[in-house]
Amino acid sequence: MKNTAIGNIENTSFVEKQSFFKWLFGCWHTRMSKPVTIDSTTFCYCKDCGLRRNYDFETFTPQGAFYSPRPGKEELYFV
Ligand SMILES: [Zn+2]
Repeated sequence: MKNTAIGNIENTSFVEKQSFFKWLFGCWHTRMSKPVTIDSTTFCYCKDCGLRRNYDFETFTPQGAFYSPRPGKEELYFV
């Protein structure tokens, strides 16, 4: 029951690590977000691991491969 109170403070880093492990060990990307447009790029992101996938508004389907929203340098932190 203690976890509920502490959860909010440590939630961010915990989720990030958990997401990384999901990404590392394989995520099925079953919970995708709604399409988001940033800098004229429209993409959906996985609510579990955070990987992004471009979204084509003309066909209303995701296009291409999943990619990481983070630059490589930050990912090296975990290695
Ligand atoms: Zn995923």
